[in-house]
Amino acid sequence: MSSIFSTPPGRRRLLVATASALALFATLSQGKDIVIHAGALLDGVSAAPRPKVSIQIHDDRITGIEAGFVTPAGAEVIDLSTATVLPGFIDCHVHIAAKLPSRTNATEDWLTHSDLDRAFEASVFMRAMLQQGFTSARDVGGGDDTVAVRNAINSGKISGPRLWVSLEALGPTAGHGDPHSGLDAGLSHAGWTNGIVDSPEAARLKVREHKRRGADVIKIMPSGGIASTGDDPRQQLMTNDEMRVAVETAHSLGMKVAAHIYPAGAIEAAVEAGVDSVEHGSFATAQTLALMKARGTYLVPTLTVFEVFYVAARDHPELLTPGTAPKELANDLLPKQNFPLALKSGVKIAYGTDLGEGNHAMEFGLMIAAGMSPADSVLVATRNAADLLGAADRVGSIQAGRFADLVATPGDPLQDPAQFQQVSFVMKGGVVYRQQGQPTLAAVK
Ligand SMILES: [Zn+2]
Repeated sequence: MSSIFSTPPGRRRLLVATASALALFATLSQGKDIVIHAGALLDGVSAAPRPKVSIQIHDDRITGIEAGFVTPAGAEVIDLSTATVLPGFIDCHVHIAAKLPSRTNATEDWLTHSDLDRAFEASVFMRAMLQQGFTSARDVGGGDDTVAVRNAINSGKISGPRLWVSLEALGPTAGHGDPHSGLDAGLSHAGWTNGIVDSPEAARLKVREHKRRGADVIKIMPSGGIASTGDDPRQQLMTNDEMRVAVETAHSLGMKVAAHIYPAGAIEAAVEAGVDSVEHGSFATAQTLALMKARGTYLVPTLTVFEVFYVAARDHPELLTPGTAPKELANDLLPKQNFPLALKSGVKIAYGTDLGEGNHAMEFGLMIAAGMSPADSVLVATRNAADLLGAADRVGSIQAGRFADLVATPGDPLQDPAQFQQVSFVMKGGVVYRQQGQPTLAAVK
Protein backbone atom coordinates (compact mmCIF):
# COMPACT_ATOMS: atom_id res chain seq x y z
CA MET A 1 0.00 0.00 0.00
CA SER A 2 2.79 2.45 0.88
CA SER A 3 4.27 2.02 -2.61
CA ILE A 4 1.58 4.27 -4.11
CA PHE A 5 3.74 7.34 -3.20
CA SER A 6 6.67 6.08 -5.26
CA THR A 7 4.52 5.03 -8.23
CA PRO A 8 4.91 7.01 -11.50
CA PRO A 9 1.92 9.34 -12.20
CA GLY A 10 0.51 7.15 -15.01
CA ARG A 11 0.42 4.06 -12.88
CA ARG A 12 -0.91 6.11 -9.97
CA ARG A 13 -3.96 7.15 -12.05
CA LEU A 14 -4.51 3.48 -12.94
CA LEU A 15 -4.36 2.49 -9.28
CA VAL A 16 -6.81 5.24 -8.31
CA ALA A 17 -9.16 4.19 -11.13
CA THR A 18 -8.89 0.56 -10.01
CA ALA A 19 -9.59 1.55 -6.42
CA SER A 20 -12.70 3.51 -7.36
CA ALA A 21 -13.92 0.67 -9.58
CA LEU A 22 -13.52 -1.67 -6.63
CA ALA A 23 -15.43 0.75 -4.40
CA LEU A 24 -18.23 0.95 -6.97
CA PHE A 25 -18.32 -2.85 -7.21
CA ALA A 26 -18.49 -3.09 -3.42
CA THR A 27 -21.45 -0.68 -3.40
CA LEU A 28 -23.26 -2.60 -6.14
CA SER A 29 -22.62 -5.96 -4.53
CA GLN A 30 -23.78 -4.75 -1.12
CA GLY A 31 -27.15 -5.88 -2.33
CA LYS A 32 -30.52 -4.34 -2.11
CA ASP A 33 -33.54 -4.43 0.09
CA ILE A 34 -36.52 -6.30 -1.27
CA VAL A 35 -39.99 -6.60 0.21
CA ILE A 36 -42.41 -9.28 -0.95
CA HIS A 37 -46.10 -8.62 -0.50
CA ALA A 38 -47.57 -12.11 -0.04
CA GLY A 39 -51.32 -12.70 -0.37
CA ALA A 40 -50.91 -15.68 1.95
CA LEU A 41 -47.87 -17.16 3.65
CA LEU A 42 -47.17 -20.78 4.54
CA ASP A 43 -43.98 -20.25 6.49
CA GLY A 44 -42.78 -23.84 6.97
CA VAL A 45 -42.98 -23.42 10.74
CA SER A 46 -46.69 -23.89 11.39
CA ALA A 47 -49.28 -25.56 9.19
CA ALA A 48 -51.71 -22.61 9.22
CA PRO A 49 -51.52 -19.95 6.48
CA ARG A 50 -51.14 -16.25 7.40
CA PRO A 51 -53.01 -13.78 5.19
CA LYS A 52 -51.38 -10.61 3.77
CA VAL A 53 -47.83 -10.34 5.04
CA SER A 54 -44.69 -8.51 3.96
CA ILE A 55 -41.43 -10.45 3.81
CA GLN A 56 -38.31 -8.31 4.06
CA ILE A 57 -35.09 -9.42 2.40
CA HIS A 58 -31.59 -8.00 2.43
CA ASP A 59 -28.97 -9.55 0.15
CA ASP A 60 -29.49 -13.30 0.30
CA ARG A 61 -31.32 -13.42 3.65
CA ILE A 62 -34.79 -12.90 5.07
CA THR A 63 -34.64 -10.10 7.64
CA GLY A 64 -38.21 -9.87 8.87
CA ILE A 65 -41.90 -10.61 8.41
CA GLU A 66 -44.66 -8.09 9.12
CA ALA A 67 -48.44 -8.25 9.04
CA GLY A 68 -50.06 -6.31 6.20
CA PHE A 69 -48.46 -4.83 3.09
CA VAL A 70 -45.68 -2.45 4.15
CA THR A 71 -42.93 -0.95 2.00
CA PRO A 72 -39.77 0.19 3.78
CA ALA A 73 -38.10 3.24 2.18
CA GLY A 74 -35.82 2.28 -0.70
CA ALA A 75 -36.98 -1.33 -0.90
CA GLU A 76 -37.91 -2.93 -4.21
CA VAL A 77 -41.45 -4.37 -4.04
CA ILE A 78 -42.24 -7.80 -5.46
CA ASP A 79 -46.00 -8.02 -5.74
CA LEU A 80 -47.26 -11.50 -4.90
CA SER A 81 -50.37 -10.08 -3.23
CA THR A 82 -52.70 -12.53 -4.98
CA ALA A 83 -50.42 -15.56 -4.58
CA THR A 84 -49.50 -18.02 -1.83
CA VAL A 85 -45.84 -17.82 -0.77
CA LEU A 86 -44.03 -20.86 0.63
CA PRO A 87 -40.44 -21.76 1.51
CA GLY A 88 -38.51 -23.20 -1.43
CA PHE A 89 -39.17 -26.93 -1.65
CA ILE A 90 -36.51 -29.49 -0.67
CA ASP A 91 -36.15 -32.93 -2.29
CA CYS A 92 -34.14 -35.21 0.02
CA HIS A 93 -33.69 -38.07 -2.45
CA VAL A 94 -32.45 -37.18 -5.91
CA HIS A 95 -29.87 -38.49 -8.35
CA ILE A 96 -29.04 -35.32 -10.20
CA ALA A 97 -27.86 -36.98 -13.43
CA ALA A 98 -30.54 -39.71 -13.60
CA LYS A 99 -32.61 -39.75 -16.78
CA LEU A 100 -36.26 -40.80 -16.82
CA PRO A 101 -36.42 -44.58 -17.35
CA SER A 102 -38.90 -44.35 -20.20
CA ARG A 103 -36.55 -42.21 -22.30
CA THR A 104 -33.36 -44.18 -22.67
CA ASN A 105 -31.94 -47.69 -22.34
CA ALA A 106 -30.43 -47.78 -18.85
CA THR A 107 -27.51 -50.13 -19.62
CA GLU A 108 -26.60 -48.43 -22.89
CA ASP A 109 -26.68 -45.05 -21.19
CA TRP A 110 -24.56 -46.26 -18.27
CA LEU A 111 -21.90 -47.74 -20.55
CA THR A 112 -21.70 -44.88 -23.06
CA HIS A 113 -21.52 -41.88 -20.72
CA SER A 114 -18.71 -40.67 -18.47
CA ASP A 115 -18.99 -38.69 -15.25
CA LEU A 116 -18.25 -35.60 -17.35
CA ASP A 117 -21.25 -36.32 -19.58
CA ARG A 118 -23.35 -36.87 -16.48
CA ALA A 119 -22.31 -33.51 -15.02
CA PHE A 120 -23.57 -31.70 -18.13
CA GLU A 121 -26.85 -33.67 -18.07
CA ALA A 122 -27.22 -32.85 -14.38
CA SER A 123 -26.76 -29.14 -14.99
CA VAL A 124 -29.78 -29.21 -17.33
CA PHE A 125 -31.89 -31.25 -14.89
CA MET A 126 -30.93 -29.01 -11.95
CA ARG A 127 -31.89 -25.84 -13.81
CA ALA A 128 -35.30 -27.41 -14.49
CA MET A 129 -35.62 -28.53 -10.87
CA LEU A 130 -35.05 -25.00 -9.57
CA GLN A 131 -37.74 -23.79 -11.99
CA GLN A 132 -40.15 -26.30 -10.38
CA GLY A 133 -39.59 -24.56 -7.02
CA PHE A 134 -36.96 -26.84 -5.47
CA THR A 135 -34.30 -24.60 -3.95
CA SER A 136 -32.48 -27.39 -2.06
CA ALA A 137 -31.86 -31.07 -2.71
CA ARG A 138 -29.90 -34.02 -1.39
CA ASP A 139 -28.23 -36.33 -3.91
CA VAL A 140 -27.94 -39.83 -2.46
CA GLY A 141 -25.79 -41.72 -4.91
CA GLY A 142 -23.65 -40.06 -7.52
CA GLY A 143 -19.94 -39.61 -8.15
CA ASP A 144 -17.42 -36.90 -8.85
CA ASP A 145 -20.02 -35.39 -11.19
CA THR A 146 -22.37 -34.60 -8.29
CA VAL A 147 -19.59 -32.87 -6.35
CA ALA A 148 -18.66 -30.81 -9.43
CA VAL A 149 -22.25 -29.75 -10.12
CA ARG A 150 -22.78 -28.81 -6.45
CA ASN A 151 -19.64 -26.68 -6.56
CA ALA A 152 -20.63 -25.04 -9.86
CA ILE A 153 -24.06 -24.11 -8.43
CA ASN A 154 -22.51 -22.81 -5.19
CA SER A 155 -20.10 -20.59 -7.11
CA GLY A 156 -22.86 -19.21 -9.34
CA LYS A 157 -21.61 -20.73 -12.62
CA ILE A 158 -24.89 -22.56 -13.26
CA SER A 159 -28.36 -22.31 -11.74
CA GLY A 160 -29.83 -25.05 -9.58
CA PRO A 161 -30.89 -25.96 -6.05
CA ARG A 162 -28.43 -25.88 -3.15
CA LEU A 163 -27.07 -29.43 -3.12
CA TRP A 164 -26.00 -31.79 -0.36
CA VAL A 165 -24.32 -34.75 -2.06
CA SER A 166 -23.18 -38.24 -1.30
CA LEU A 167 -20.77 -39.98 -3.63
CA GLU A 168 -21.32 -43.61 -4.66
CA ALA A 169 -23.71 -45.43 -2.33
CA LEU A 170 -21.84 -47.89 -0.09
CA GLY A 171 -22.92 -51.52 -0.28
CA PRO A 172 -21.72 -55.07 -0.80
CA THR A 173 -20.47 -56.91 -3.87
CA ALA A 174 -23.54 -58.01 -5.89
CA GLY A 175 -25.73 -55.61 -3.91
CA HIS A 176 -28.04 -52.84 -5.16
CA GLY A 177 -25.14 -50.44 -5.72
CA ASP A 178 -22.66 -52.80 -7.44
CA PRO A 179 -22.22 -51.44 -10.98
CA HIS A 180 -20.82 -54.79 -12.22
CA SER A 181 -24.12 -56.61 -11.67
CA GLY A 182 -25.71 -57.87 -14.87
CA LEU A 183 -22.70 -57.08 -17.06
CA ASP A 184 -20.08 -59.36 -18.62
CA ALA A 185 -17.91 -60.33 -15.62
CA GLY A 186 -14.80 -59.31 -17.59
CA LEU A 187 -15.85 -55.67 -17.78
CA SER A 188 -14.42 -53.23 -15.26
CA HIS A 189 -13.92 -49.52 -14.69
CA ALA A 190 -11.74 -47.75 -12.15
CA GLY A 191 -14.73 -46.06 -10.56
CA TRP A 192 -16.93 -49.13 -10.23
CA THR A 193 -15.46 -50.19 -6.88
CA ASN A 194 -15.82 -46.75 -5.25
CA GLY A 195 -18.91 -47.87 -3.35
CA ILE A 196 -18.10 -51.54 -2.70
CA VAL A 197 -17.92 -52.40 0.99
CA ASP A 198 -17.54 -56.03 2.19
CA SER A 199 -16.24 -55.54 5.74
CA PRO A 200 -16.48 -53.01 8.58
CA GLU A 201 -12.90 -51.91 7.82
CA ALA A 202 -13.81 -51.27 4.18
CA ALA A 203 -16.83 -49.26 5.34
CA ARG A 204 -14.62 -47.08 7.54
CA LEU A 205 -12.13 -46.46 4.71
CA LYS A 206 -14.79 -45.71 2.08
CA VAL A 207 -16.59 -43.21 4.33
CA ARG A 208 -13.29 -41.40 4.92
CA GLU A 209 -12.45 -41.46 1.19
CA HIS A 210 -15.89 -40.07 0.33
CA LYS A 211 -15.34 -37.27 2.82
CA ARG A 212 -12.00 -36.48 1.17
CA ARG A 213 -13.61 -36.45 -2.28
CA GLY A 214 -16.22 -33.90 -1.20
CA ALA A 215 -19.23 -35.77 0.19
CA ASP A 216 -21.66 -33.95 2.52
CA VAL A 217 -23.63 -37.08 3.39
CA ILE A 218 -23.15 -40.86 3.22
CA LYS A 219 -25.55 -43.28 1.53
CA ILE A 220 -25.59 -46.96 2.34
CA MET A 221 -27.44 -49.88 0.74
CA PRO A 222 -28.34 -52.30 3.57
CA SER A 223 -30.86 -54.22 1.45
CA GLY A 224 -31.25 -55.25 -2.15
CA GLY A 225 -33.16 -53.06 -4.55
CA ILE A 226 -35.60 -53.18 -7.43
CA ALA A 227 -34.01 -51.40 -10.41
CA SER A 228 -30.81 -53.49 -10.23
CA THR A 229 -29.97 -56.89 -11.68
CA GLY A 230 -29.56 -59.99 -9.51
CA ASP A 231 -30.30 -58.68 -5.99
CA ASP A 232 -33.43 -59.14 -3.89
CA PRO A 233 -35.22 -56.15 -2.29
CA ARG A 234 -36.45 -58.47 0.49
CA GLN A 235 -32.96 -59.43 1.72
CA GLN A 236 -30.60 -57.61 4.10
CA LEU A 237 -27.23 -57.56 2.30
CA MET A 238 -24.97 -55.45 4.56
CA THR A 239 -24.00 -56.88 7.95
CA ASN A 240 -24.98 -55.06 11.12
CA ASP A 241 -21.29 -54.41 11.80
CA GLU A 242 -20.71 -52.87 8.36
CA MET A 243 -23.65 -50.52 8.93
CA ARG A 244 -22.58 -49.63 12.46
CA VAL A 245 -19.01 -48.74 11.42
CA ALA A 246 -20.21 -46.74 8.39
CA VAL A 247 -22.58 -44.74 10.64
CA GLU A 248 -20.03 -44.19 13.42
CA THR A 249 -17.38 -43.02 10.96
CA ALA A 250 -19.77 -40.73 9.09
CA HIS A 251 -21.13 -39.17 12.27
CA SER A 252 -17.61 -38.63 13.63
CA LEU A 253 -16.88 -36.65 10.46
CA GLY A 254 -20.07 -34.58 10.72
CA MET A 255 -21.95 -36.41 7.97
CA LYS A 256 -25.43 -37.93 8.20
CA VAL A 257 -26.28 -41.36 6.81
CA ALA A 258 -29.15 -42.16 4.45
CA ALA A 259 -29.97 -45.84 4.04
CA HIS A 260 -31.77 -47.46 1.09
CA ILE A 261 -33.84 -50.26 2.65
CA TYR A 262 -37.01 -52.24 1.96
CA PRO A 263 -37.55 -55.16 4.40
CA ALA A 264 -38.65 -54.63 7.99
CA GLY A 265 -35.82 -56.61 9.64
CA ALA A 266 -33.12 -54.74 7.73
CA ILE A 267 -34.75 -51.39 8.53
CA GLU A 268 -34.77 -52.25 12.23
CA ALA A 269 -31.09 -53.29 12.10
CA ALA A 270 -30.12 -50.07 10.30
CA VAL A 271 -32.10 -47.94 12.76
CA GLU A 272 -30.31 -49.70 15.64
CA ALA A 273 -27.03 -48.94 13.83
CA GLY A 274 -27.96 -45.25 13.94
CA VAL A 275 -28.85 -44.23 10.37
CA ASP A 276 -30.51 -40.81 10.08
CA SER A 277 -33.02 -41.70 7.39
CA VAL A 278 -34.58 -44.76 5.84
CA GLU A 279 -35.06 -44.28 2.11
CA HIS A 280 -38.08 -46.07 0.56
CA GLY A 281 -38.73 -48.19 3.69
CA SER A 282 -41.58 -49.72 1.75
CA PHE A 283 -42.02 -53.00 3.63
CA ALA A 284 -41.88 -51.55 7.14
CA THR A 285 -44.33 -52.97 9.68
CA ALA A 286 -46.05 -51.11 12.51
CA GLN A 287 -43.28 -52.36 14.81
CA THR A 288 -40.56 -51.05 12.45
CA LEU A 289 -42.22 -47.66 12.23
CA ALA A 290 -42.64 -47.48 16.02
CA LEU A 291 -38.89 -48.11 16.41
CA MET A 292 -38.10 -45.38 13.86
CA LYS A 293 -40.40 -42.97 15.65
CA ALA A 294 -38.80 -43.75 19.02
CA ARG A 295 -35.31 -43.17 17.58
CA GLY A 296 -36.25 -40.08 15.59
CA THR A 297 -35.25 -41.72 12.30
CA TYR A 298 -36.75 -40.09 9.21
CA LEU A 299 -38.66 -41.97 6.53
CA VAL A 300 -38.20 -40.73 2.93
CA PRO A 301 -40.93 -42.68 1.10
CA THR A 302 -40.08 -41.79 -2.57
CA LEU A 303 -43.51 -42.74 -3.94
CA THR A 304 -42.64 -40.96 -7.18
CA VAL A 305 -39.95 -43.36 -8.35
CA PHE A 306 -42.27 -46.36 -7.97
CA GLU A 307 -44.92 -44.63 -10.04
CA VAL A 308 -42.46 -43.70 -12.78
CA PHE A 309 -40.76 -47.12 -12.91
CA TYR A 310 -44.06 -49.04 -12.79
CA VAL A 311 -45.17 -47.26 -15.95
CA ALA A 312 -41.77 -47.81 -17.59
CA ALA A 313 -41.80 -51.53 -16.71
CA ARG A 314 -45.32 -51.91 -18.08
CA ASP A 315 -44.81 -49.90 -21.28
CA HIS A 316 -41.07 -50.14 -22.00
CA PRO A 317 -39.53 -53.13 -20.17
CA GLU A 318 -36.80 -53.32 -22.82
CA LEU A 319 -35.37 -49.98 -21.61
CA LEU A 320 -34.81 -51.05 -18.00
CA THR A 321 -31.71 -52.70 -16.52
CA PRO A 322 -31.75 -56.34 -17.76
CA GLY A 323 -34.17 -58.58 -15.87
CA THR A 324 -35.60 -55.87 -13.60
CA ALA A 325 -39.02 -55.24 -15.18
CA PRO A 326 -40.65 -58.20 -13.35
CA LYS A 327 -39.23 -56.91 -10.03
CA GLU A 328 -40.72 -53.47 -10.75
CA LEU A 329 -44.13 -54.90 -11.63
CA ALA A 330 -44.15 -57.12 -8.52
CA ASN A 331 -43.12 -54.42 -6.04
CA ASP A 332 -43.89 -50.89 -7.28
CA LEU A 333 -47.55 -50.77 -6.24
CA LEU A 334 -46.86 -51.80 -2.64
CA PRO A 335 -45.27 -48.60 -1.24
CA LYS A 336 -48.42 -46.55 -1.88
CA GLN A 337 -50.51 -49.21 -0.17
CA ASN A 338 -48.20 -49.23 2.87
CA PHE A 339 -47.93 -45.43 3.13
CA PRO A 340 -51.05 -45.00 5.35
CA LEU A 341 -49.35 -47.24 7.94
CA ALA A 342 -46.42 -44.81 8.08
CA LEU A 343 -48.82 -41.86 8.43
CA LYS A 344 -50.64 -43.59 11.26
CA SER A 345 -47.39 -44.37 13.10
CA GLY A 346 -46.40 -40.71 13.47
CA VAL A 347 -42.89 -41.38 12.12
CA LYS A 348 -41.11 -38.25 10.85
CA ILE A 349 -41.39 -38.04 7.05
CA ALA A 350 -39.19 -36.02 4.67
CA TYR A 351 -39.87 -35.35 0.99
CA GLY A 352 -38.03 -37.38 -1.64
CA THR A 353 -38.66 -38.44 -5.24
CA ASP A 354 -35.60 -40.48 -6.33
CA LEU A 355 -35.59 -38.53 -9.62
CA GLY A 356 -33.03 -36.44 -11.48
CA GLU A 357 -34.78 -35.51 -14.70
CA GLY A 358 -38.55 -35.21 -14.35
CA ASN A 359 -41.32 -33.71 -12.26
CA HIS A 360 -40.09 -33.37 -8.68
CA ALA A 361 -43.46 -31.99 -7.52
CA MET A 362 -45.20 -35.32 -8.22
CA GLU A 363 -44.56 -36.54 -4.67
CA PHE A 364 -46.95 -33.93 -3.22
CA GLY A 365 -49.89 -35.37 -5.13
CA LEU A 366 -48.92 -38.99 -4.41
CA MET A 367 -48.59 -38.42 -0.66
CA ILE A 368 -51.87 -36.48 -0.56
CA ALA A 369 -53.68 -39.18 -2.56
CA ALA A 370 -52.35 -41.75 -0.06
CA GLY A 371 -53.80 -39.87 2.91
CA MET A 372 -51.48 -37.00 3.91
CA SER A 373 -53.04 -33.54 4.33
CA PRO A 374 -51.81 -30.84 1.91
CA ALA A 375 -50.64 -28.75 4.91
CA ASP A 376 -48.53 -31.65 6.18
CA SER A 377 -47.10 -32.22 2.71
CA VAL A 378 -45.76 -28.64 2.81
CA LEU A 379 -44.05 -29.26 6.16
CA VAL A 380 -42.61 -32.55 4.86
CA ALA A 381 -41.06 -30.73 1.87
CA THR A 382 -39.79 -27.76 3.89
CA ARG A 383 -39.35 -27.93 7.68
CA ASN A 384 -38.82 -31.70 7.94
CA ALA A 385 -36.57 -31.90 4.88
CA ALA A 386 -34.40 -29.06 6.21
CA ASP A 387 -34.14 -30.81 9.56
CA LEU A 388 -33.02 -34.03 7.85
CA LEU A 389 -30.36 -32.07 5.94
CA GLY A 390 -29.16 -30.62 9.24
CA ALA A 391 -29.78 -27.16 7.77
CA ALA A 392 -32.97 -25.96 9.47
CA ASP A 393 -31.10 -22.82 10.58
CA ARG A 394 -30.58 -21.85 6.90
CA VAL A 395 -33.36 -23.34 4.73
CA GLY A 396 -36.86 -24.80 4.93
CA SER A 397 -38.74 -21.92 6.58
CA ILE A 398 -39.55 -18.28 6.04
CA GLN A 399 -38.10 -16.66 9.15
CA ALA A 400 -35.57 -13.91 9.83
CA GLY A 401 -32.02 -15.17 9.34
CA ARG A 402 -32.85 -17.90 6.80
CA PHE A 403 -31.77 -17.78 3.16
CA ALA A 404 -34.32 -15.97 1.01
CA ASP A 405 -35.42 -19.19 -0.71
CA LEU A 406 -39.10 -18.75 -1.57
CA VAL A 407 -41.66 -19.90 -4.07
CA ALA A 408 -45.19 -18.83 -4.90
CA THR A 409 -48.22 -20.53 -6.39
CA PRO A 410 -50.95 -18.53 -8.11
CA GLY A 411 -53.71 -20.24 -6.10
CA ASP A 412 -54.03 -21.90 -2.69
CA PRO A 413 -52.23 -25.28 -2.68
CA LEU A 414 -54.05 -26.32 0.50
CA GLN A 415 -57.35 -26.18 -1.41
CA ASP A 416 -55.95 -27.26 -4.78
CA PRO A 417 -52.87 -29.54 -4.56
CA ALA A 418 -52.32 -29.23 -8.33
CA GLN A 419 -50.88 -25.80 -7.42
CA PHE A 420 -47.70 -27.53 -6.20
CA GLN A 421 -46.98 -28.28 -9.87
CA GLN A 422 -47.70 -24.72 -11.00
CA VAL A 423 -45.07 -22.68 -9.21
CA SER A 424 -45.09 -19.18 -10.71
CA PHE A 425 -42.27 -17.53 -8.72
CA VAL A 426 -38.91 -18.85 -7.50
CA MET A 427 -36.31 -16.96 -5.47
CA LYS A 428 -33.10 -18.53 -4.19
CA GLY A 429 -30.72 -16.55 -2.00
CA GLY A 430 -32.55 -13.31 -2.83
CA VAL A 431 -32.17 -13.83 -6.61
CA VAL A 432 -35.35 -14.29 -8.69
CA TYR A 433 -35.15 -17.30 -11.02
CA ARG A 434 -38.79 -17.44 -12.07
CA GLN A 435 -41.39 -14.69 -12.27
CA GLN A 436 -44.95 -14.76 -13.61
CA GLY A 437 -44.40 -18.37 -14.60
CA GLN A 438 -41.33 -17.68 -16.75
CA PRO A 439 -37.58 -18.19 -16.17
CA THR A 440 -35.70 -14.94 -15.54
CA LEU A 441 -32.28 -14.06 -16.97
CA ALA A 442 -30.61 -15.41 -13.79
CA ALA A 443 -32.07 -18.82 -14.60
CA VAL A 444 -30.72 -19.00 -18.12
CA LYS A 445 -27.04 -19.53 -17.38
ZN1 LIG B 1 -32.27 -43.44 -4.99
